[in-house]
Amino acid sequence: MFIVLEPTCPPAQADRVLGCLAAADAVGRLSEGRSRRVIEVLEGQDRIDRSRIEQLAGVVRIVDAARELVGTPESSKPQPREVPLGSRATVGGRRLAIIAGPCSVEDQTRLLETAHAVAEAGAVGLRGGAYKPRTSPYSFQGLGDAALDLLAQARQATGLAIVTEVMSTEQIARVAAVADVLQVGSRNMHNTPLLRALGEQDKPVLLKRGWSATLEELLQAAEYVRVGGNPSIILCERGIRTHERYVRNTLALAVVPEARRLSGLPMIVDPSHGTGRAHLIEPMCRAAVACGADGLLIEVHPNPNRAWSDGEQSLEPAAFARLVERLRPVATACDREL
Ligand code: PEP
Ligand code: MN
Repeated sequence: MFIVLEPTCPPAQADRVLGCLAAADAVGRLSEGRSRRVIEVLEGQDRIDRSRIEQLAGVVRIVDAARELVGTPESSKPQPREVPLGSRATVGGRRLAIIAGPCSVEDQTRLLETAHAVAEAGAVGLRGGAYKPRTSPYSFQGLGDAALDLLAQARQATGLAIVTEVMSTEQIARVAAVADVLQVGSRNMHNTPLLRALGEQDKPVLLKRGWSATLEELLQAAEYVRVGGNPSIILCERGIRTHERYVRNTLALAVVPEARRLSGLPMIVDPSHGTGRAHLIEPMCRAAVACGADGLLIEVHPNPNRAWSDGEQSLEPAAFARLVERLRPVATACDREL
């Protein structure tokens, strides 16, 4: 059980609630974020007088499960949120946000060629890993800081917003100095110290669903960021692990409208990691737009056969441009712009 307090209630009011709990031989613990204050009742839930506590000054409401705390604290119905993607675009408005680029940043020539091509085709964001979370420690781990410099050059050259992954709290300052949006990868969705630290800085966060995470776990991970004071969160469905091995992951598109409804946060879809196969990107993009996704995250490489990571799920620039053109009628039919 959780007692939600007004975010600005004076400490004396919180003390009064805790005192009331103690009088009923219940134990409460106050947790204070920048946007919400909550008392968790750890012991004695059945001994407290709910309606009496609800009437105390500073108390907003009492909820039974943490899942009911997800969303906008001030109102019971989450309001749709539009999150900035650099200075020229947003995610969550009428216009779909297409973010495209290589799995990993490899070198200046290939990155700039890709950036110019995806910008020309209609992308508003450039993706590219500087720090790569690879399954094997012997696989390419990313160029690190050198890649951040190349991403900054690519933004300068094209105006694209930069989306790149941050893997640890120590990397946040370096990545945030370059990125317009900080990506939390599937493997790190459960890394609560990282999520908390991202809540304490201002850059928007792209939170990818853990490949075994439920929708509720994804929304609670977003809540870790939000409670620290950063409401600019973009969710991303990138497929989950199921018994199906034909595709790399199973893209679970039903969560897209549901996550948006429950949290008010925008959600984009990554059909590259969601399928692992380049030829499945287009059909999954169509489906994603049709079910209400606010954008797409697509791997593009000038020569996928020679990509240092994830070439098999990357499009060539010309195929990417054709894809965007073919998505326009789908967007229009869904009352979105592209
Ligand atoms: C990525 O987008 O670069 C990536 C590593 O994806 P995921 O975290 O979804 O596996
Ligand atoms: Mn990849």
